[in-house]
Amino acid sequence: MASDVRNTVIIGSGPAGLTAGIYAARANLKPLCIEGFNAGGLIPGGQLMFTSDVENYPGFPEKVTGPDLMQRFRDQARHQGTEFITADVTKVDLAHRPFKVWHAEAEQPVLAKTVIIATGARANYLGLPNEHELKNKGVSACAVCDGALFRGEPVAVVGGGDTAMEEASYLAGLCAKVTLIHRRDEFRASKAMQERVRENPKIHVLYSHEVRDVLDVAEDRVTGIVVEDRKKGERHTIPVSALFVAIGHTPMSELFTGQVELHPNGYIRTVPGTTQTSVPGVFACGDVQDWVYRQAVTAAGTGCMAALEAERYLAMTGAH
Ligand code: NAP
Repeated sequence: MASDVRNTVIIGSGPAGLTAGIYAARANLKPLCIEGFNAGGLIPGGQLMFTSDVENYPGFPEKVTGPDLMQRFRDQARHQGTEFITADVTKVDLAHRPFKVWHAEAEQPVLAKTVIIATGARANYLGLPNEHELKNKGVSACAVCDGALFRGEPVAVVGGGDTAMEEASYLAGLCAKVTLIHRRDEFRASKAMQERVRENPKIHVLYSHEVRDVLDVAEDRVTGIVVEDRKKGERHTIPVSALFVAIGHTPMSELFTGQVELHPNGYIRTVPGTTQTSVPGVFACGDVQDWVYRQAVTAAGTGCMAALEAERYLAMTGAH
């Protein structure tokens, strides 16, 4: 293979991609990380760049902000020898070797012996007028990340899937009251998770309701939500200090459709217990292949696995 073929190209720069960078660089793979620019509304660093305080990342007892944490990840990856390009990947060819990765800053593709996909997922939001302005000020898509900020206060969760059940149950352990709002008469969540919610006296369920607005931009924090009864068409305001949106995530796997196997829900399929995709030499880590745990620390763990597996693959195929 020509010498301008990279051992490892990492696509994405959240905890998974940057941890892969740290490990791949330490294994002397001279990795290139194409960190993204604003693909999917995200920025380099990924979802944590929109998170204020991170209190559950091990090693930071004094807590750390999401952007500070990601800066540290990036500094460490760079210090170890990861090279960065700040651009969105526009196309990949994983059917032929060397793999080809095109990005917005160059006409020619980057060639790679192995590719680590770490493009993450983005939380879906309702698209309400004030929702965006109140993000990180009470509007959140992660109870584990932000729930503790609303200890002892009333909060709301919107959604009817497993995530909404899990978020509501988790918040009920911290908050004064949880109003769970779902647009239909029945939940989509598994029976066991529904039971957990129904049995919890702190969770009040509002079926057939939709959230129409979040208040109050003038106060620069969430003070309540406006909900509409879908059957009666009536609206009323519920005072809450936070709205947790749990209406699903979208994995950033569009680029890889038709190139690696995906689960029916769009997440990249990996061999259980590994980060191997359906294409040998292509690995996937972090939220683009995980819809269950979705934590920075689990993403970092799988990023480490991907780099170790890429190194092993290169050694096995005699390519490095
Ligand atoms: P999901 O199953 O797709 O559920 C999304 C929920 O949000 C649905 O109830 C949907 O309503 C509602 N929704 C979607 N768009 C909406 C909108 N614009 N306005 C109001 N409501 C809206 O997503 P998820 O709960 O994140 O789960 C994703 C996957 O992860 C599932 O396969 C789930 O089983 C899995 N998961 C598993 C666990 C676990 O096992 N511990 C935990 C979390 C997630 P409708 O029902 O009306 O469509």
